[in-house]
Amino acid sequence: MEIDLHCHSTASDGALAPAVLVARAYEKGVRVLALTDHDTLEGLDEARTAAQALNMQLVNGVELSCTWGGATIHVLGYGFDVQAPALVQAIAALHEGRWLRAEEISRKLALKGMPGALEGARAIQAALGDSGNAPARPHFADFLVGAGYVKDRAEAFRKWLGAGKLGDVKQHWPTLEETVGTLRAAGAWVSLAHPSHYDFTRSKRRRLIGDYIQAGGHAIEVVNGYQPADQVGSLAILAREFGLLVTAGSDFHGPGGWSEIGEYRPLPDDLPPLWSRFKLDPPTANV
Ligand code: AMP
Ligand code: ZN
Ligand code: FE
Ligand code: FE
Repeated sequence: MEIDLHCHSTASDGALAPAVLVARAYEKGVRVLALTDHDTLEGLDEARTAAQALNMQLVNGVELSCTWGGATIHVLGYGFDVQAPALVQAIAALHEGRWLRAEEISRKLALKGMPGALEGARAIQAALGDSGNAPARPHFADFLVGAGYVKDRAEAFRKWLGAGKLGDVKQHWPTLEETVGTLRAAGAWVSLAHPSHYDFTRSKRRRLIGDYIQAGGHAIEVVNGYQPADQVGSLAILAREFGLLVTAGSDFHGPGGWSEIGEYRPLPDDLPPLWSRFKLDPPTANV
């Protein structure tokens, strides 16, 4: 694909440094890339410099953590002003919150007989890059695998880190409404990441989308990597019904994972892509 609007670098929980990620994207045919690290803008400068050298378009991106309906939800922002005070402030709060959360996850794992998780997760993260951000759940998962507490990452999430488990610490996240508001205040285009990932009933998913639109959201991510085709179909129906713009991306985290940069299922072609708006004026309240 020529466009990929969802990927992660070592600035959050990806395995490749931003410049290496950009080079890989170029090799795979991507010409418009948004780096969307979790709760940080740290990788954007390096990615932009690398993209410029390859004549690629780098779109400012971020994937923000927030809460809605008792769950952790991810919201993607694009094309914002990196210096917008509301965004800078929110990122600073998330940076601090993520460190407190990592300490808490570590404490909880220690109480279950798995000590040293923060140090272990940090060591795994440090081997990949030199981010000043707190280790993320995948780093904790790799620690648990390495220490022999679980057999693989999937088991780490299923037993300890996934939604509703001990490691799903959410109290440091702002609300969905605040998060969409922050992004809008920074002039961002906003897309609700992977709405099928949440274990919601159909009616709860519809309520999520309704509240998200109410908060100022523009788009939903109808395609996330190789997610099952029936999920793409259900999200496409929701996008049509709610009159939303749509986005797509690989959600690439690293080689050998479940996705590849620049690769995802095709979008149903009647849906209006958000990226057709990137070159227009910044978003206004009525789009
Ligand atoms: P965090 O930002 O620390 O909450 O970590 C979120 C990341 O954990 C997601 O972007 C995924 O990369 C990963 N993740 C979340 N749930 C799972 C899961 N069930 N299995 C594997 N990875 C997951
Ligand atoms: Zn991630
Ligand atoms: Fe996500
Ligand atoms: Fe992601």
